[in-house]
Amino acid sequence: MPVDGVEFYIREGRDVLVFPTHDGQTCVWVGRSSDEWPDYRANVEARYLGGLDEATRARLDAGRRMSPFRGTHKLPNHFRQCHGEGWALVGDAAYHRDPLTGMGIGDAFLGAELLACALDTGLADNLSEALADYERTLAEKTSAAFDYTLQAASLKDPAALVPLYARIASRPELTQQLMNVLAGSAPARSLFNARNVASLMRGGDLQMPAVALRQ
Ligand SMILES: Cc1cc2nc3c(=O)[nH]c(=O)nc-3n(C[C@H](O)[C@H](O)[C@H](O)COP(=O)(O)OP(=O)(O)OC[C@H]3O[C@@H](n4cnc5c(N)ncnc54)[C@H](O)[C@@H]3O)c2cc1C
Repeated sequence: MPVDGVEFYIREGRDVLVFPTHDGQTCVWVGRSSDEWPDYRANVEARYLGGLDEATRARLDAGRRMSPFRGTHKLPNHFRQCHGEGWALVGDAAYHRDPLTGMGIGDAFLGAELLACALDTGLADNLSEALADYERTLAEKTSAAFDYTLQAASLKDPAALVPLYARIASRPELTQQLMNVLAGSAPARSLFNARNVASLMRGGDLQMPAVALRQ
């Protein structure tokens, strides 16, 4: 199934992601609300195909399936206590959120970097204080994206957000900033803060830092 770039569709109760993967193949993801899991699991193919819009379904039908279906609903949303006497957690073990926003890998690297810095400082001075600081900083740097992920993953009717995303899509620099947020290289609040959202809904201009790297 040919694909040009990445396609992402959010519909009420489901999300569809189409993207290129290895060996020239295309991955087509159909996610549904977690309360639908028993039904999805019992009727995988029908529920999967039924989640596609007509045009995507037609493209899929013209392609060839290369692998079995894979799925999971073990996708908790939580922060854990991530340090103690002689141990510390990073990545999904420390902080797990629904993969819909695709931020887990960037956040795992962020956590690893913060923990490495905390160990460097703590081993020379006060380790438990440095690790407590690590846990606090990780939560501070990820909580806005966590909240955004929870909202997006609730798969509520997206109609109210369509004007906002349409405006983002109409401006390449805003689209780039949204991609930066989703890639974890810019803080979620650099785009989704109260002033920007109000301005986007009105069709006005935004105040954004030229380069807003996550620091
Ligand atoms: C369907 C799906 C799609 C996703 N899409 C994206 C995406 O597009 N972009 C993105 O950034 N993130 C995505 N994520 C999230 C991303 O995969 C995770 O956030 C990331 O892999 C976390 O890395 P990690 O190293 O913390 O954990 P993991 O990658 O889970 O690595 C942990 C490793 O530890 C091993 N292990 C566990 N227990 C033991 C043990 N007792 N002894 C030895 N080894 C053990 C496991 O086998 C595993 O290999 C997605 C996740 C899912 C489920």
